[in-house]
Amino acid sequence: MTRIIGIASAKGGVGKTTVASNLGIALYTEFNIDTILVDANFTASHLGLHLGMYYFPTTFNTVLAGKAKMEESIYRHISGVRFVPASLNLEDLVEVDTRKIKRAIKRLKGKTDIVFIDCAAGLGKEALLMMKVCDELLIVANPELPSIMDAKKVSQVAEGIGCKVLGIVLNRVRHSPYELTPREIEEQTQLPILAIIPEDSLVQKSILYKMPAVMLDPDAALSIEFKKLAARIVGKEYKPKILRKSLIDDVSRSLKRIFIGGLTTFRRI
Ligand code: ADP
Ligand code: MG
Repeated sequence: MTRIIGIASAKGGVGKTTVASNLGIALYTEFNIDTILVDANFTASHLGLHLGMYYFPTTFNTVLAGKAKMEESIYRHISGVRFVPASLNLEDLVEVDTRKIKRAIKRLKGKTDIVFIDCAAGLGKEALLMMKVCDELLIVANPELPSIMDAKKVSQVAEGIGCKVLGIVLNRVRHSPYELTPREIEEQTQLPILAIIPEDSLVQKSILYKMPAVMLDPDAALSIEFKKLAARIVGKEYKPKILRKSLIDDVSRSLKRIFIGGLTTFRRI
């Protein structure tokens, strides 16, 4: 049976898309669990950017505008993970009919093991609609009081509409003395912390190199935490494989083309 798991947060920029892309790839490559990632954040649709793919003839917006079937908006990433991107064009926002969301997501049932929905931040209409579609929810938060208080609110709303909250993915943890500790966060929210993902510039590198962190540097501490989270989601144990070579050196030595907004620029990285 296909699990529909939302990835939500109270505010933007906490790491939902980073978690969605790395978690999906970790599940597919480490545990052979098929996943489809759906970008349901129409105003900050960054999933394609995190996966290094920018141009799509059909997107989730096209589906919600009634111009394509959900199946026609599924793409395969080089990692093997499939995903449904949302459009980066502002004009495509206008035609989105959010009433079609439920039916569109239901069409993915039976086609994969897990659908991860990269939700819009907050408790606005878009975010609430997605929570109604999800069976389960992961809440991404940073170890700061405002982020944690808001995570609690998201959790209460989700539970209220029948969406089971699995717990918190704590992201950008620096272990600074000013951060809330995992114990404090669990006490405050009454939710389990499912993963402690460190602050690591590998995330920025991975976006620049167009390859999610778990692929770019599979043995980095950050990547290992994503794999442990993947294991936890499917009730398996993560056993580290023999150390693999980081791709960073190879990639950084090469001259790479970076496509941004239709412009082709060359950067030495
Ligand atoms: P959201 O989807 O919640 O808006 P993103 O996943 O796009 O957030 O993350 C926003 C930005 O934060 C990323 O582009 C990246 O620069 C940074 N970031 C996210 N997670 C980490 C991390 N663990 N370490 C360092 N930077 C991170
Ligand atoms: Mg995002």
